[in-house]
Amino acid sequence: MHFEPPLDCQRCGACCREAYDAVEVGPRERVVRAQPSLVVARPGGPDGAPRLELLRNGPPGKSSCAALGGAPGAWSCRIYLDRPRTCRDFARGGGHCLDARRKLGLSPHPAPALGASAPGSASLA
Ligand code: SF4
Ligand code: SF4
Repeated sequence: MHFEPPLDCQRCGACCREAYDAVEVGPRERVVRAQPSLVVARPGGPDGAPRLELLRNGPPGKSSCAALGGAPGAWSCRIYLDRPRTCRDFARGGGHCLDARRKLGLSPHPAPALGASAPGSASLA
């Protein structure tokens, strides 16, 4: 048995902060049109096309999504309604969530086994 504290995205924010270095964006996602200043094109997409990502603040390994607002303990997504599918599909309490939290020292426990149920929805829900 182990103890996992209640998952509060506004207190955590790990998946929008240093846990990851990039949030991929599909070329037809709403965020591309609605928030163009937050979308950057990098080389390496399919068929020579650019790969789209959300802009980051900070150096690699210590960066945060540029759409992250608020302050430590009260994080918020400034583009919540326009956030990309990667964020919408991110399951609070799922393996990637616990992985992100563990990277930032917020959860000491390993991710659940594949197939375990994810109790929540997208990041900063
Ligand atoms: S989805 Fe998980 S990692 Fe992301 S902010 Fe919420 S609790 Fe933290
Ligand atoms: S939920 Fe918002 S702040 Fe977090 S990674 Fe997605 S767009 Fe950025």
